[in-house]
Amino acid sequence: MKKLIIIFTISITLFSCEDAFEYFLDAELESYFQAFEYEAALRHVDITEELAQVSGFIIDIEGAGVVGQCRSYASGDHEVVIDRIRWNNLDAFQKEYLVFHELGHCVLGRSHDNNADESGVCTSIMQSGEQGCILQYAENTRLQLLDELFNY
Ligand SMILES: [Zn+2]
Repeated sequence: MKKLIIIFTISITLFSCEDAFEYFLDAELESYFQAFEYEAALRHVDITEELAQVSGFIIDIEGAGVVGQCRSYASGDHEVVIDRIRWNNLDAFQKEYLVFHELGHCVLGRSHDNNADESGVCTSIMQSGEQGCILQYAENTRLQLLDELFNY
């Protein structure tokens, strides 16, 4: 009987862990999350509620080549997870691209899009990075790529 009680206690604890989602946003990601909300609002897309359910972490991701991830949970919560070492080596445009790409998955529910223009340049920041189109996310392409991101 004693054993049964212990097992019961453990399963209750596991369940309450899953239910109690604790929101966390790394301070380094805050301005990028805010910029995402701002750019969405400029295009009349209201994602405030969805964004409030997305935590953001910068950690050491196990596994080579993974720079960022959008993790989704059955509760409707999401996590953007960015690799610490890769993050530290990115400039501001590359950081924005990376966070916006992951929020494209987590908030907008978008999947990958590897379409390219006639020069082979990616027409979406939702490109997978594996299919050969060339990503050019810079001052002169940013507006068009953000239009595409929010109004696809
Ligand atoms: Zn992706």
